[in-house]
Amino acid sequence: MHELSIVMSIVDIAEAQVKKNHARQVDAIELEIGELAGVEPDAFDFAWPSAVKGTVLDHAQKEIRHVPGRALCHECDGEFVLHEAFDSCPACGSFVYNILQGKELRVKSLVLS
Ligand SMILES: [Zn+2]
Repeated sequence: MHELSIVMSIVDIAEAQVKKNHARQVDAIELEIGELAGVEPDAFDFAWPSAVKGTVLDHAQKEIRHVPGRALCHECDGEFVLHEAFDSCPACGSFVYNILQGKELRVKSLVLS
């Protein structure tokens, strides 16, 4: 499962930070997940408990910030909300645009103890 490998890479990041800061565990973790990052929220939440079990994230409080997709159209110069990676511009129907945000998938903050 795709989401499981994402959670496991987050565990890697958290373990590296815990080690680097000579901490014992993570108390809280804040994640930023873009609407266009290809992460299924339900599958992610389902994968989380088993993937973090026995790791530094086992007792961490998890908070997820969902970042909406935004794009800038090349044809009409309009900025619009992009819910799916292959949607067209709502103003002119163009498929040529730059994605401004929504592809992020990162650890925003960690609280260690
Ligand atoms: Zn457009």
